[in-house]
Amino acid sequence: MLRLILFDVDGTLLSTDGQAGRAIGVALRETFGTAGPIAGYSFAGKTDPQIVFELMARAGLPRSDVAPRLPEVFERYCARLAAALDPGNTRLMPGVREVLATLAGRGDIALGLLTGNIRPGAEIKLAAAGLAGRFAVGAFGSDEEDRNRLVPVARARARELWGEEFPGTRTVVVGDAQADIRCARAGGAWSVAVASSKTPKAELAALAPDVLLDSLASPEALTALVAADG
Ligand SMILES: [Mg+2]
Repeated sequence: MLRLILFDVDGTLLSTDGQAGRAIGVALRETFGTAGPIAGYSFAGKTDPQIVFELMARAGLPRSDVAPRLPEVFERYCARLAAALDPGNTRLMPGVREVLATLAGRGDIALGLLTGNIRPGAEIKLAAAGLAGRFAVGAFGSDEEDRNRLVPVARARARELWGEEFPGTRTVVVGDAQADIRCARAGGAWSVAVASSKTPKAELAALAPDVLLDSLASPEALTALVAADG
């Protein structure tokens, strides 16, 4: 029986040191003439479509004006992102390389993504960080605007690929934001929160994830990922 481990991207696997936020800002300005109140806006745990709708709503643009132009925004965003990211400004979070190498070497783990990034955006970031092709399945912001609906998407793709079910806590959601914990819970999955990025540990603890780690470099990280009870 396999265990499906789904990783968030930003702040969990890697950091683009603000390049991705700048790329979405440029794409919004080029498309709508404004990026809204992007300075000080928190991207943590949000899906890309949610980010666009929220920023444009705060700029006074109704959803009905924004929705038809999402493809245009994301095309500009991806072009900008691909041009901006390189191994010099896209770094892996602590412990990621070692944890992924160990998990990939086991026979009982299925590795996937659960991220608010649109799929092509996630692929650009992972490639810049040297992680291209490491995750066989994923659920993305391009699948659902509401992150809380993404666990079933990932499970369905995993079932198709590996030919087995990943019920309950045999699905593990790993992330650095409160939204990752909520989404794990919404999907009935096991939640592993990592306090290695912008969300303070106390704010993650307030949502009572099943496991709370300082980072994926913590000595207990691997045990927490592979021995989720369920
Ligand atoms: Mg994140």
